[in-house]
Amino acid sequence: MEEYEQNALSSTRHVIGVMSGKGGVGKSSVTALTAVALARMGYKVGVMDADITGPSIPKMFGVHGKLDSAETGLFPAQTERLGIRIVSLNLLLDREDRPVVWRGPLLAGAVKQFWTDVSWGDLDFMIIDLPPGTGDIPLSVMQSIPVEGLITVSSPQDVAALVVRKAVNMAEMMDKPIIGLIENMSYIKCPGCGETMYPFGKPAGAGFASEMGIPFIGEMPIDPALSEAADRGEIEMYESPIMQGIAEAVVRHVQASAQEE
Ligand code: ADP
Repeated sequence: MEEYEQNALSSTRHVIGVMSGKGGVGKSSVTALTAVALARMGYKVGVMDADITGPSIPKMFGVHGKLDSAETGLFPAQTERLGIRIVSLNLLLDREDRPVVWRGPLLAGAVKQFWTDVSWGDLDFMIIDLPPGTGDIPLSVMQSIPVEGLITVSSPQDVAALVVRKAVNMAEMMDKPIIGLIENMSYIKCPGCGETMYPFGKPAGAGFASEMGIPFIGEMPIDPALSEAADRGEIEMYESPIMQGIAEAVVRHVQASAQEE
């Protein structure tokens, strides 16, 4: 498969993908938090929402409306607070509430457009929210866009299942290094008594990561403040200790790969 050509008005230093074995584990949330954490460190950040049939990135960042376009291509939307540049199918459709009922090749074509037809400008990091699983689109993104590393998101429930293993194995088969695993929804702290509860079973991410030979970034608790911030379009306001850890893992990864070259 050919590499997509990057738009003439884009200069992206590092492309990072976020993947998961299945939907609903918090992949888009982690994508958004990674972008926010890197932007807070002063980097220029863009988010490509390649989760084409379930695009949720624009809503989390509170960006709406249609992307601007010129002869040279489309321009990303920009978030108000941190100036994160965002491209999503939802920002190209007339109505946000319509399902995307396109077939595979058309969907892959949309991702190609996001890379080739969008003038992203100058970016330190582009974070790509991949569709869950190991289907067509994650595969064509990994083959056609120079992804430098992947973050994997799982929940305690699905670590035992084959889906996460498959996602990790796909990355390995495509020669894409895994920056690390984040276990989301690992626990919840009772707001009344402070007790830690494990609604999806005991955290298993750290053990799974070491078994798979990939770094473990950390556990993320269920936090109603996160889903509320996402629903209000205010994910840029969210604070959590894990964010710094994710951003540092990403920066360490790209610095190490620069040294290897
Ligand atoms: P995915 O991209 O894997 O489908 P999302 O990031 O869209 O998952 O998350 C699914 C839903 O769960 C969203 O409503 C999101 O706000 C919520 N969610 C994700 N992670 C957490 C968390 N740690 N605490 C609370 N809600 C969360």
